[in-house]
Amino acid sequence: MSRFLKLKSLVPYTPGEQPRSTDRLIKLNTNESPFPPGPEVIKALNAGAVSMLRLYSDPTCAMLREAAADFYGISPDMVCAGNGSDELLALIFHGLTPNGAVFPDITYGFYPVFSDMFGVSAKEIPIREDFSIDVEDYRGEKGTVVIANPNAPTGLYLDEGKVRRLLEQDRDRLVVMDEAYIDFGGKSSVGLLGEYDNLIVVQTFSKSRQLAGERVAIAMSSPEIIADLNTLRFSFNPYNVDSLAILAGSAAMRDREYFEKCRLEIIRSREYTIEKLRELGFNVTDSLANFVFAAPPGMSGGEYMRALRQEGILVRHFDKAKTDAYVRISIGTFEDMQTLIEKTEKILKTARSDAF
Ligand SMILES: *Cc1c(COP(=O)(O)O)cnc(C)c1O
Repeated sequence: MSRFLKLKSLVPYTPGEQPRSTDRLIKLNTNESPFPPGPEVIKALNAGAVSMLRLYSDPTCAMLREAAADFYGISPDMVCAGNGSDELLALIFHGLTPNGAVFPDITYGFYPVFSDMFGVSAKEIPIREDFSIDVEDYRGEKGTVVIANPNAPTGLYLDEGKVRRLLEQDRDRLVVMDEAYIDFGGKSSVGLLGEYDNLIVVQTFSKSRQLAGERVAIAMSSPEIIADLNTLRFSFNPYNVDSLAILAGSAAMRDREYFEKCRLEIIRSREYTIEKLRELGFNVTDSLANFVFAAPPGMSGGEYMRALRQEGILVRHFDKAKTDAYVRISIGTFEDMQTLIEKTEKILKTARSDAF
């Protein structure tokens, strides 16, 4: 650390490992899509698009906002685009937390980092023994509530009734639903925007739309809140979404057929993985995300993660007390998941024979 750093105690977010080459590894550690961007995205990113890079990108991101508005049947002035949802969440933590922030103690690791970075007072509400979020625990809290739905890394989903209760507890309190994983089985809260003006829904193109490396995301809310987000965005980086990201994001949003196909394939592979792991004696949550959260029998989460790495499979382990027994396994292709199960059988067998 140099003597010039102002925020000396800042502990940054730790991203999952991005190996230089995935040739010999099955990468199930950062919840990316195992499928490539779709044909429409590839068509949009043509030579003409690249030559446009001479000019600044459209600061209003009109094309992308219109594509998202059409998809959800809302108006474009209810959509703001960002350079990944991490950026949109950063703007929200920085500028839309007049009374601090409130979020579960087990959730996306960036929320406490943003709080520190922007000096936002943060309150962490413990999740329940079964990893669930009880919305009643948020009653009376004044800070902006930030909920990943489904939650990470548990995969547990809050249904619409519970989201409504959260919104109705206090109409003067903002609720942010981070829907990074909503397309894998949950129902988006976007449909509630007409009824509640204290709601922001954030979605990324990194998980269900094959564009993690393109850095593109949207926030949807009332036109007033979107105008505030634009004030924040234009006070920081008005060209936050680059020209290729606008084109690729719009094409991904409009290609419903490819989106559906990939999404349903992930759900099928997830259900297969949950069933097989449970048969092998794992504790597995009822994940509605593109990952499973699973505790192996007879070994810790860290041990299982290291054993999988020896077998060429990367998964993620979070070494907090509540999550130590578990690993988070991203859903890859169906073949990836079959390999995971085979390697897991081998690991469990070796562990058992070592124990005798
Ligand atoms: C992956 C993830 C994000 C970040 O997505 P980007 O758009 O790639 O920045 C945000 N929130 C949650 C809960 C995530 O899992």
